[in-house]
Amino acid sequence: MPPARFVTDASLEFLARRLIFLGYDVAVVRGARLEELFEAARAGDRTVLTMSRRRPRAFADVAAITVARDDPAAALRALAAAHEPAGPPFSRCAECDAPLQRRHPMEARGEVPGRVLRGARALSYCATCGKWYWAGTHVARLRAWLEQALGRPVG
Ligand SMILES: [Zn+2]
Repeated sequence: MPPARFVTDASLEFLARRLIFLGYDVAVVRGARLEELFEAARAGDRTVLTMSRRRPRAFADVAAITVARDDPAAALRALAAAHEPAGPPFSRCAECDAPLQRRHPMEARGEVPGRVLRGARALSYCATCGKWYWAGTHVARLRAWLEQALGRPVG
């Protein structure tokens, strides 16, 4: 099964970010109309994630999954059970979906708090948007949310 590639809009951003943290490739096109979302899916060979049950007739060939927003944990569990991630957990940027690079803490000097640099052996860096990631309380909380949703440990 090839890794899943999704595209969605800001209405499902909460779910999209958690899928990205889990290692899924999820492009978020903010402010896109439904037709634009299907256009992006066709152009990028992606599956649409949407809350809408409407399927624009011109895009009958484009794969789409309807997701309920009221239970993101159930949506995540269902998607994860049926689709392969593009990489391991915490390997993609939640801001822009780009794969993260491992970097030495020295390279983050001036951009990341000193207490983080002193405690870190390696950091993750997004070369597309310039965001740094490190294992902190935020990641611990996210991991706990993901493990609760999936009912299994997240690597
Ligand atoms: Zn980024």
